[in-house]
Amino acid sequence: MNLSITTLLLLLLGCGAVICDVTTYDEASEPTYRLSAHIVPVAYDIWLKPYLLATDGARRFTFDGKVNITLHSTSTGVRAITLHKNLIEITGVWLYDNNNAAKLIQSFSSDELTYDQTTQQLTVFLKDQLTLNNNYTLHFVYTGQIRDGLQGFFRANYTDGAGKEKWIGVTQSQRINARSIFPCFDEPALKATFRLEMSRPAEYNTVFNTELLESVPDGADRYLDRFAATPPMSTYLFAFIISEFEKYGSDDLKIVTRAEYQNNTHFAYEVAERAIKAYDEYTQQPYKQLGLPLMQMAGSPRFPHNGMENWGLIIYSDDVLVNVPGYTDGWSNTEYTLTIIVHETAHMWFGNSVTFDWWSYFWLNEAFARYYQYFMAHKLYPAYQLDQQFVVNQVHLIFGTDATSGTQPMTSPAASINTPGEIGYKFSSIAYAKGASILRMIANLMGVNNFDDAIRDYLKENHLKNTIPEDLFQHLKRYWPTQPQVDLEQFFTDWTEQVGYPVLFVNTSAAGEIKLTQKRFLLDRSDDSNDILTYTIPITYTTNAEADFDNLTARFYMPKDGDMTFVVEKPYKWILFNLQQSNYYRVFYDKTILLQLKNALSTTNHSGIPPTNRAQLVDDLFNFARVGWLDYAEVFEFMEYLEYETEYLPWYAMFTNLQRVAQRLTLQQQNAFVRYLVEIMSRIYKYLGFERSNETVLDIYNRNKVISWACKYHMFSCGREAQHFFDASNATGVRPTPDFRETLYCSAVRDGITAYYYQLEHWFEKEQLVSEKQKLVRAMGCTRFFYEYHYARILIGAIPSEYATMAITAMYAQNPENVEPVFNLITRSIERLVDRIGGWSSAANLIKDIANYLTTPEQKQLLDDFVAEKGSLFGSSIATLHVAVSNVESNLEWANTRLPRLMQYLESRNAAGLKGITALLLLFVSLVQRLL
Ligand SMILES: [Zn+2]
Repeated sequence: MNLSITTLLLLLLGCGAVICDVTTYDEASEPTYRLSAHIVPVAYDIWLKPYLLATDGARRFTFDGKVNITLHSTSTGVRAITLHKNLIEITGVWLYDNNNAAKLIQSFSSDELTYDQTTQQLTVFLKDQLTLNNNYTLHFVYTGQIRDGLQGFFRANYTDGAGKEKWIGVTQSQRINARSIFPCFDEPALKATFRLEMSRPAEYNTVFNTELLESVPDGADRYLDRFAATPPMSTYLFAFIISEFEKYGSDDLKIVTRAEYQNNTHFAYEVAERAIKAYDEYTQQPYKQLGLPLMQMAGSPRFPHNGMENWGLIIYSDDVLVNVPGYTDGWSNTEYTLTIIVHETAHMWFGNSVTFDWWSYFWLNEAFARYYQYFMAHKLYPAYQLDQQFVVNQVHLIFGTDATSGTQPMTSPAASINTPGEIGYKFSSIAYAKGASILRMIANLMGVNNFDDAIRDYLKENHLKNTIPEDLFQHLKRYWPTQPQVDLEQFFTDWTEQVGYPVLFVNTSAAGEIKLTQKRFLLDRSDDSNDILTYTIPITYTTNAEADFDNLTARFYMPKDGDMTFVVEKPYKWILFNLQQSNYYRVFYDKTILLQLKNALSTTNHSGIPPTNRAQLVDDLFNFARVGWLDYAEVFEFMEYLEYETEYLPWYAMFTNLQRVAQRLTLQQQNAFVRYLVEIMSRIYKYLGFERSNETVLDIYNRNKVISWACKYHMFSCGREAQHFFDASNATGVRPTPDFRETLYCSAVRDGITAYYYQLEHWFEKEQLVSEKQKLVRAMGCTRFFYEYHYARILIGAIPSEYATMAITAMYAQNPENVEPVFNLITRSIERLVDRIGGWSSAANLIKDIANYLTTPEQKQLLDDFVAEKGSLFGSSIATLHVAVSNVESNLEWANTRLPRLMQYLESRNAAGLKGITALLLLFVSLVQRLL
């Protein structure tokens, strides 16, 4: 990104602080964002005095600051020092010589300082050059804001158990916000130690990265908290909280939250305790020996992320740490707590001890944290089957992003990442989900034990240092098995520096040879993606003769620049590639193999093919149909095997992909579609039921999807059963389990009598917990017969505006047959609705969302008429309505071209009452016979 720089020299005049904002005058030159290596920070001694109380008057939500930065000069001829600052006002700057009895060298006047707003860099100009290898202290006095946004030093409020409003001060230094708390060298490789002195109101306390050394009185009603020094670490890990929170736990591990949460953080504490122990053993570098013995986990009522891995003080959103019994302690809630804590804890090693050298290599932190959040968490809590869930939650999800022009490589050239915007760009799901997927592929290819050894070496060798990907690769190479041969340089480059991933095409010849070719998978080949990228592909496969899905090392590697042909020695009934979908690619089989696989899957135990590979087949086939490589009729026919499927992963892949098709069907088309669903879902519906003994966590997750689809399309008397179950649990006075609650409420209220709606409404009004209120209001929106009353409640404000949009969305998303009436309700009352949902821009987004459910030309006409009649009311947001119109156009066109064959198939299938053998299948059979 090139920024053109407007320049103003505003020195002295009109500035309260010593310096004013200055930008470079030369428009032609590119601003330099990176700091020089001629002078580096060694230590920061920070003193802060925040004003958080109402009695602080005009100073409330500001702070005073002082910092001594110990610097080391690594070069001769240094005549200026450049560092970062943002949103703080500097009132004095002094430089001392540490080697000369801390003698004052220079007191800086305003004309010896410049500030560049674009680069957020402050430069202090020296009268005399610095001495090589000498230490200096640069002292700043400044003031700053306790910000309202969620960056730097910011404020958050909550209502305590006694109903009193309380304010806290909390930090988020990542990515580049330490510079808004104190002037600093705000780059990850410029590690230094940090000490903090905090002057705080008497009733508050401070938690910092390190342990508290002492608290001494500091004038009237204040104390000064002094903390130990951190190990050398990056600025983005600097953190503190000033609050009235309470601390509990052991000397080594503490939780810091509001007092009333104390009893609801036991699970979080247990997870943290077990996670630290597990990483201690795994890395063979105990946490305490990394350099900071204390671990504190704090909860904040407002926070920009689920968690932030500040060394010694991980800050979480409250909902990560708190699991309220009976309310927010379901399996999915505790899975969230578990995975986030295991993720953040991994960062103590991957990120805090060993840190990426520059933001372009951000994945070196996040790929590991995401990988262990599944695989370390799985070791600790196997019931969640996170090793299995990884495939659908991470690989399938990121496959979507990585198949568009919006993707990016894991590693970018360091020189291409400079501006704050470019740094922000690297905070992408590619760093997390693709990074973790690539690590999983590597670990399985080299053998998990080899991988673990390599990682231990990598961590030990780079303790307290910064790394680039090559540092990691060196260790991986050292432990990589010599057979089968692979050009590892090329392998790592292909997967971390290139975007995207391939499809492996598998074709059988009449002579029994298998030919492999590759092509990048793209959702839209007309976007400006590079469609000729190729990759070094690890090949794993098995046949019915072995059915070995555990050996995930490669049989061989397919080079990036050529096809491969080989023969499978033993005859086989089926062959399957990319075992456990451990490698990062899709597989496109010819029709012969596909039919073999469908037959293999249709046996009682699916011929031993594991759920990960079953989910892979489902996801791949739907995606091939999505881009037109297959017809949906063929895919739906393959999916008939699901009639025998009871596992979560394949159904997860099925429902995720099915939604895209279901949403395009007209009401008339839905009939044939639902008959198909009834057949393939009857077994899983009976198998899971509304409750079941000995069910797994994944059964519980699966039930939500199965019941939700079954009830939405009025299958199997689902709604009535939901009502019975609802009545029964209501009679006991115990709410249904948190995991199933929203699905059950929605399913019961959908076509239930008014009593069900009133019950939810009553609970909604009494409920205090926001997450629970959201569940209730979304479930209320499921009502099919009572929706006009529900909508009226939204319009009159009986459902508060912060819940209004989700209350409306459920009305059409959960009731395909109500899309048009709900569209009419919304459009006819748009002027009244606007005030309830936060303005015309929100209203335009709502219209755009419901427009995605329109399926007929008549419905499109309704939208066109609405835009013609009311469009001008939307102001600049009319652009969103135009997007909605064009989306409907392309959706209708898509349906016209892609659905007829599917509908033909579904209708002929239903008419014939055939389950397995259809005309299409017969066609495949004849094809196979010809090939044999
Ligand atoms: Zn992370």
